[in-house]
Amino acid sequence: MSDNNQSPAQDQGISLVSEAVCQEVMGRADAFIAVENVFSAMAKNTAYNFPVIREAIGHADALYGFKSGFDRDGMVLGLKSGGYWPGNMQQNLTNHQSTVILFDPDTGKLKALVGGNYLTAVRTAASSAVSIAHLARKDAKVLGMVGAGHQSTFQLRAAVEQRNFERVVGWNLEPERLSVLAQICDELGLVFEAVSREELCAQADVIITITSAFEALIENDWIKPGTHIACMGTDTIGKQEVDAKLLASASVFTDEVAQSITLGEAQHAIAAKLIQQTDITPIGEVINGSKAGRTSNEEITLFDGTGVGLQDLAVASAAVELAQAQGKANQIAL
Ligand code: NAD
Repeated sequence: MSDNNQSPAQDQGISLVSEAVCQEVMGRADAFIAVENVFSAMAKNTAYNFPVIREAIGHADALYGFKSGFDRDGMVLGLKSGGYWPGNMQQNLTNHQSTVILFDPDTGKLKALVGGNYLTAVRTAASSAVSIAHLARKDAKVLGMVGAGHQSTFQLRAAVEQRNFERVVGWNLEPERLSVLAQICDELGLVFEAVSREELCAQADVIITITSAFEALIENDWIKPGTHIACMGTDTIGKQEVDAKLLASASVFTDEVAQSITLGEAQHAIAAKLIQQTDITPIGEVINGSKAGRTSNEEITLFDGTGVGLQDLAVASAAVELAQAQGKANQIAL
């Protein structure tokens, strides 16, 4: 929001935007724009992520950390803090907990506290959606979903808005969970079919993997020419969703190269010397037009979506603006 639009109270106060308000104000279209813009800024080096901190705190089996960064184009400075508390389910709380804290880049003053749980799912779905928008074949008709956990429903809804999909094929380790995807397809008028992983690759024009797997679920030679695959689950050292050889067969794109080669899907292909860091293109370069995206209908494109703090800050900042505009942000004085 520009300074002109801010009331004196907003100027001086801190905006509190709850999880519930985030769900009310932040839709997929706004998240898409926020994430696309910040990927673009990252590629221009006007936005950068600071080193990520993640620690086992030795209490409640919790993993705690924070992701921080500064986007000079969007004038967004802040951090997302939180992590994973495995015992939360017993208290009717989500195991993943996060909060975004935004600061005024001109003064360092606290600007906003924003619930980060819903926004994490929305920004992750926006990331794969941006990759589909820029890299998938225009005539893609069949979407393949590998994984049916919490993130998958957000992924599915955002993906189907990018192309004229007619069918969705899905696979999950626990097949009974595929009903959550089938229900959404039913609601959206799309045919849904549960299939084997190999069959999924034979049918799908676009594939999203969103699992917590530590071994490849997709073989290199199952993928047909022209496929776009968004690997979204691998965000930690040791995780893996696809055959490392697939990264050598495909043109590889990512949100951030530094994360892709260390904790993203590319970590295994890099370790096995199947590809080099220079083989991986930041998707922001494609968005900005400085690098080519898909160059033929036969090319296989792979997006390694590792998840960066700037995505969280971008959607949180947009949520604050929307909440303020709709009178839904609580303003408090510090
Ligand atoms: P979830 O716990 O709700 O679901 C986990 C999914 O992984 C389920 O579909 C489950 O069947 C599958 N799975 C687990 N172990 C598996 C195995 N060994 N083989 C095959 N499938 C397996 O989790 P979620 O919230 O849906 O998150 C899914 C993954 O996405 C997690 O690994 C999470 O860390 C990652 N994630 C990535 C980003 C990002 O920005 N890239 C953001 C959020 C979450």
